[in-house]
Amino acid sequence: AKNEANASVVLFSRDLLNSRQVRSVLAAELQAAISNDEMVLYYQPVVALKTGELVGVEALVRWQHPRRGLLMPDEFIDLAEEIGAMAPLAVWVLQTALAQLRRWRETVVLDPRFSVQVNISATQLQRPELLDDVQRILSEEGIEPANLVLEITEYSMVTGNEWDLYSFRGLRQLGVGLAIDDFGTGYSSISYLRTLPVDGVKLDKSLLSSDIAAPAEREFIAAILQLVKSCSLAATFEGIETGEQAAMLAALGCDSGQGYYFSRPVPAPGINAALVASLLE
Ligand code: C2E
Ligand code: CA
Ligand code: CA
Ligand code: CA
Repeated sequence: AKNEANASVVLFSRDLLNSRQVRSVLAAELQAAISNDEMVLYYQPVVALKTGELVGVEALVRWQHPRRGLLMPDEFIDLAEEIGAMAPLAVWVLQTALAQLRRWRETVVLDPRFSVQVNISATQLQRPELLDDVQRILSEEGIEPANLVLEITEYSMVTGNEWDLYSFRGLRQLGVGLAIDDFGTGYSSISYLRTLPVDGVKLDKSLLSSDIAAPAEREFIAAILQLVKSCSLAATFEGIETGEQAAMLAALGCDSGQGYYFSRPVPAPGINAALVASLLE
């Protein structure tokens, strides 16, 4: 009987977000989540691998749901896209992340290159208003465009659509940093390294094996990093979980990295503490 109870609990939570009924409730709740102050940003440190210096943070959204607890982006981003709630969410994320950067600046002396890295979906990149939104929020918060990096995952739509080109070019002209996200997964083709006007690449954690010491693994990673370097792009590895991985990536010339080895994503005060600690070092 105990097993049965457990099984039904698992079934309930697994199927929960997929069931049509729950999804439609969740969709309605999602529409109101921003105005109800239920969205939260977590920040994950991005570290220069040579020096260990904190060079920026990636903003990662969570939904603090009043009954379901802390929901991860995988549980609601697609839904937000489906119901057309992505534009207000994207604006909220930009607004919140850049206001936070301003507050960090007011509290600690940051390296002028310290960047906040924000994920932006392909549908948002296609929205002609994106450029105006970005420009307005930057100026409201008094942030230089170069201190914002937009990370873009799915480029499947980024062909032949004028607005894509518009956003890309406009954002670039503005001086905002652009990065290819999830490089090494099915979402991101090698040809983008040459065809997209970006500054950097986030290499996906799936490229890192746990057996990083094996010569074949090392050569594999070295070759990928060389490919990225040959396109004059900055390389950031994500999903670094061990000191061994960090040391090897540093030795292979990877510029920066992020992952549980350095820190999990944390709410803003956790970054405050890290910034203050790094000043005392
Ligand atoms: P991503 O951009 O590839 O972000 C990295 C994901 O890897 C994050 O998951 C992060 O928590 C996780 N991660 C970081 N370090 C490690 C590690 O050492 N090991 C492992 N196994 N995982 C690690 P998270 O926060 O659940 O975000 C998932 C995805 O949701 C993100 O993947 C991003 O594509 C999307 N996302 C997050 N926030 C936003 C947002 O504001 N807007 C949009 N459009 N997408 C977002
Ligand atoms: Ca990202
Ligand atoms: Ca990724
Ligand atoms: Ca991802």
